Amino acid sequence: MLEIKNLQASINNKSILKGLNLVIKPGELHAIMGPNGSGKSTLANVLSGKIGYEISGELNFRGEDLKKIPVEKRAQKGIFLAFQYPLEIPGVNTNIFLKTSLNSIRKSKGKQALDTLAFLKLVREKSSELGIDEEILSRQLNVGFSGGEKKKNEILQMKILDPNFSILDETDSGLDIDALKIVAKGVNSSRDSKKSFLVITHYQRLLDYIKPDFVHVLSDGKIIKTGCGELAQELEKTGYKKLN
Ligand code: ADP
Ligand code: MG
Repeated sequence: MLEIKNLQASINNKSILKGLNLVIKPGELHAIMGPNGSGKSTLANVLSGKIGYEISGELNFRGEDLKKIPVEKRAQKGIFLAFQYPLEIPGVNTNIFLKTSLNSIRKSKGKQALDTLAFLKLVREKSSELGIDEEILSRQLNVGFSGGEKKKNEILQMKILDPNFSILDETDSGLDIDALKIVAKGVNSSRDSKKSFLVITHYQRLLDYIKPDFVHVLSDGKIIKTGCGELAQELEKTGYKKLN
């Protein structure tokens, strides 16, 4: 699915990713942990195609060089990013945003656009699964949403767009335990042998509900340790300092 070799990324002359290697196969869920400022969000941004970074190294997604593919094409090819800090977009209705995103991806695959009724049926089903009050979907995107509503709305987008590769950047931060369980359930019910996930988190707690195939520790722009679920438990006890 994704092969990253010696990835280096810098922005405004600041080097952030410093030779990162990672291979994610179809069906796998990888968790990335690491101290603040280690480059986790930068990795998420670089994978999803945010502009402004100087990048070198290999970045292959399903056999294609991602570096040459612009952000909207990456979304069409099935890359999805749930933002650490979802943006409020005044003037953009949430339902219309979701429908437009979905139909633009469908169009790129030669599929017919969903009409309003079919879309509403889909959005109702997915939002009820995530315990999202439909009322918020008729509001402006993220405007006045609580922290938890913003994060759940990111997962709703994921469920509706049904990507092959989802990157969740600290989707668990700021969630209460019930919301965390709902988000985890949303992720778990999307997992299958073809889809892959990169879940960035600070807390082992999330990994009690979402079982990772691999856990990596990112520090100063590089993966310095890889393990399985137990590594997250170990880090919870010892912190990151011991690894440096
Ligand atoms: P993490 O998500 O692991 O906390 P980030 O990827 O957000 O870390 O940031 C890594 C480092 O890069 C931080 O020191 C941050 O200040 C710096 N950084 C991120 N974006 C920029 C930018 N646009 N300009 C300058 N420095 C940046
Ligand atoms: Mg971050």
